[in-house]
Amino acid sequence: MKNLAPLINAALSKELHALIYLLGYCSQQGSFKVYAVGGFVRDLFLGRENRDMDLVVEGSAVDFAKSLLKVMPGTLRCYERFGTATLVLSKGIVFDMVTARKEFYAAPGALPAVEQSTLKNDLFRRDFTINTMACALNTGDFGRFYDYFGGREDLEKGIIRVLYKLSFVDDPLRIIRAIRFEQRFDFVIEEDSLALLTKAINNRLLEKVSKERLYNEVRLIFREPRPSKILARLDELNLFKEIFPRSVFSQEIKSRLQRLEQVLTEISPKEHGKTWNYLVLFLSALFFDLAEHDIKFLCHLMRLKRKERLDVLSIRENIPFILLQLQAHPISSSRLYFLLEDLPDEGLVLAVALASQPHIRGHILFYRDHLMEKKPSITGKDLLEAGIKPGPVFNKVLIKLHEAVLEGKVSGKEEELGFVKLLIKEQCAEE
Ligand code: ATP
Repeated sequence: MKNLAPLINAALSKELHALIYLLGYCSQQGSFKVYAVGGFVRDLFLGRENRDMDLVVEGSAVDFAKSLLKVMPGTLRCYERFGTATLVLSKGIVFDMVTARKEFYAAPGALPAVEQSTLKNDLFRRDFTINTMACALNTGDFGRFYDYFGGREDLEKGIIRVLYKLSFVDDPLRIIRAIRFEQRFDFVIEEDSLALLTKAINNRLLEKVSKERLYNEVRLIFREPRPSKILARLDELNLFKEIFPRSVFSQEIKSRLQRLEQVLTEISPKEHGKTWNYLVLFLSALFFDLAEHDIKFLCHLMRLKRKERLDVLSIRENIPFILLQLQAHPISSSRLYFLLEDLPDEGLVLAVALASQPHIRGHILFYRDHLMEKKPSITGKDLLEAGIKPGPVFNKVLIKLHEAVLEGKVSGKEEELGFVKLLIKEQCAEE
């Protein structure tokens, strides 16, 4: 195939399609040469739309990005020192732009020195052949296909292959990337590449990579649809323990992750446009059997943000008790609410996956779909306005009111106020 224009026309949404044409027009106008590369071209052949586009610019990527911003409203971040820029548009469309460059690795795992160069050299610094295909975007040359390293053939055969012998030595993170792509696409790592990968593992090259870089790459595993497959393969290649020390990849954990993956295909975040934190979700499942101090150690090692760490710990601590309590059947709505209210959203999903009986699962989904947002319509302010004086009973009364709302005993502002006044009268009579 010499020209990818028909494939682009067929595979992309109208919106992305129009943006790419506009981009091609801008590059022509500004005398830049711009190419779509990497995952975008690979996914085009696989019939998948990739909204995170990697672009190589012959000329300055930063200057090109600035010229784009004039016609495409978005948020632009430029890294002049590295000759890269990222333009984030609406609806999850991202253009990652790099100035075509050549890389030199002084030491294994170290960041490379770079020099401005051509498309071909830029493609040679990439991880695997399937990620080295490129497509010209300039108007007039739109769609011209470049495949210097046999990427198309490897993609058709389902092969992950490095471009040169020292690839894993130069950047050991490619070990994890190879495994991730292999498992994502159900491909195989080509024989020689696998031998190089195994050698790199035996020589413990991943230890040479900074923890920040390592765990940034590891995070990506949890954004895949089937992390359990990738972790199983890491374990098979003796890498799991290196990446997650103090943790074991048992059959039980694998089944737990698989149940979680299944649940994720069945339910979606309640709030439209919101996504779960997959790292929190999967790490909570992965570390479920570990002691608290080991979880803290791993969260620290993996550079989790404070909120992520607290969520993993809270999920781990609360779910066993919650699942035990939810065995009760029937269970009152208010009991259900107060059991689950403090659990992070990711904890609810994991609880569904770990629920041993269908009625427990039913309880959790009922909470999520019908109770979670069921709150009294009056607030403390309404109580003050109704002449009720703030005091120790104030909070107690609001909780009782919430219970009554959850149980469906009262609804609407008027009934709620009436209920509260009655409660206060009773309380005063008791005192
Ligand atoms: P995904 O579908 O996961 O987004 P991608 O191929 O787009 O996959 P990115 O991580 O976004 O992957 O990287 C973009 C491109 O940069 C890749 O296609 C690859 O060519 C290159 N790349 C990324 N990381 C490396 C690396 N460690 N070594 C060499 N090339 C890399």
